[in-house]
Amino acid sequence: MAHIPVFDGHNDTLTQIRAEPKADRRNFLERSDRGHIDLPRAKEGGLAGGFFAIFTASKAWEGTPSALMDADGDPVPGGMSVTLPPKLAHRTALRFTVAVISDLLRLERESEEAMQVVRTADQLDRCISQGTFASILHIEGAEAIDSGLESLYVFYEAGLRSIGPVWSRPNAFASGVPFDFPRSPDIGPGLTAAGRRLVAACNQLGILLDLSHLNEKGFWDVADLSEAPLVATHSNAHCVSPSPRNLTDAQLDEIARTDGVVGLNFHVGFLRPDGDFKAAATTSMSEIVRHARYIAERIGTRHLALGSDFDGATMPFDLPDATALPALLDLFREDGFSKAEVRAIASENWQRVIRATWREG
Ligand code: ZN
Repeated sequence: MAHIPVFDGHNDTLTQIRAEPKADRRNFLERSDRGHIDLPRAKEGGLAGGFFAIFTASKAWEGTPSALMDADGDPVPGGMSVTLPPKLAHRTALRFTVAVISDLLRLERESEEAMQVVRTADQLDRCISQGTFASILHIEGAEAIDSGLESLYVFYEAGLRSIGPVWSRPNAFASGVPFDFPRSPDIGPGLTAAGRRLVAACNQLGILLDLSHLNEKGFWDVADLSEAPLVATHSNAHCVSPSPRNLTDAQLDEIARTDGVVGLNFHVGFLRPDGDFKAAATTSMSEIVRHARYIAERIGTRHLALGSDFDGATMPFDLPDATALPALLDLFREDGFSKAEVRAIASENWQRVIRATWREG
């Protein structure tokens, strides 16, 4: 029986493959036992495609957690704090981003039409219904974009259709949230003048703006400025797991008001109520359904989708890679979501929001 197709809001696969030593780099088109996605495992699990993030890492950043202190300087029980790296140079990000875009375009050619970098909503719908693996080119953290936005127009022509203005480190456009736990996402200033210009240009071109990693002031700035549905491609409910990477009830409500969507993140640390990102062995994928149920009850299934963070995060023990997606969808059914609701969560909500956001049908 054919699986319900899953279209997924976020993976770091291209970025992860680039980071592997060149001589030993896995080929996305061939089955591997490394990482969470490749084309054969995607087929096996019904993964029809997703947002492929390009993320330029900061050199020599360990992200080692330390104790989280309260306002009096006392440690918060069970809390942790992670120092973020400083701003990244534009030229470093530009160089890496061009390299990874070329990786994706070459993969598309080598795949002999098994995969497509989709640029229109019609192409996306056709890929999902015909079984061609669909990739959306996404930049996570806009450091590769110059403040005059010249590279944005060039990247658009190369296929860019989605951008997260900021990863967690600050940049010329916005400020992101740290990985501290527990914490509110209301940390730091809103969008810069360049960030506001970026939002306007993305609206004009029809590039989706991803609000995952953005701090709360930046979120509300985008909510004020943007004409498109609001989207967080890979975040969960703050009320269930109080990580600043997750969305407050007010943010969820605003996403629903604009007919946007939340892609559920599978990362153990953003799922668990205690934020323990090392507890993969005791965290089941039922935690994903717990966030889904909370968000569905608050704002409706129409605004719920998947945003795995495959190849960029620590997965629950029973969700080792894309082949486990049918088991996850079964859990949604067992929790009481109807078959139509599961189809909407699995891909149709993404398809609707992408069609409302991109300029070209
Ligand atoms: Zn991310």
